[in-house]
Amino acid sequence: MTGRRKLIAGNWKMNGLKAHLSEVSAIAKLAGARDDIDVALFLPATLIAAAAPLADGVLIGGQDCHQAQSGAYTGDISAAMLVEAGAGATLVGHSERRAYHGETSADVAAKAAFAHGAGLKVVLCVGETLETRELGDEEAQDWVVDQLLASLPEGADPDWLTIAYEPVWAIGTGKVATPPQIAAMHATLRAALVARLGEKGAAMRLLYGGSVSGDNAADILHLPDVDGALVGGASLSAAKFAPIIAAA
Ligand code: PGA
Repeated sequence: MTGRRKLIAGNWKMNGLKAHLSEVSAIAKLAGARDDIDVALFLPATLIAAAAPLADGVLIGGQDCHQAQSGAYTGDISAAMLVEAGAGATLVGHSERRAYHGETSADVAAKAAFAHGAGLKVVLCVGETLETRELGDEEAQDWVVDQLLASLPEGADPDWLTIAYEPVWAIGTGKVATPPQIAAMHATLRAALVARLGEKGAAMRLLYGGSVSGDNAADILHLPDVDGALVGGASLSAAKFAPIIAAA
């Protein structure tokens, strides 16, 4: 046994109005029935304060936070704001942030460190584009290892940091990396974490994300070095999220 507890996390992205809070309650009920795994929901910032009291037993998180305490950053949100709203965690480095907001791996490392300093748990995302994957599986692994090492914050520790591997070409496309591709990437990322962090790297959770659904979750979640899933579309309703939680 690895001693790593599985984490099933949902990322609602820019989806969800107050009318959808009933799904948070329903997901909390599913999570409450499982004391052997962790469940998290990364919600739009506007829903966090309303969702937190409904979500006993579910870690509620934001989807990004700025790497400064406060200041002239129009449209951004700070770690302290997420904490005050009731969040216990945040995503950093999601490929949509990297692609649409030009976030670099250095930014991601700074955000992760800052979020931890404010008391948040952090799920840090990495993953290659289709262009990089088409260079070959080994090339893709080398590329993602480089991105991971450049994104790792100072003091990275499994108590507060989880890594999510999400191939960009599998996000929201219905294309899932094959079990052998996932297993190979996760083994390579694990080796890189151990080389960098020693025992802490061995204990750090590694999630897979990219079109995870009730149909494929069991095959993915039972692979070695897959410690859970980061789920987009299929986390928006309790009905679709339930079989993924059940598969963990
Ligand atoms: P998806 O998104 O499950 O809809 O592919 C995953 C993610 O981007 O976190």
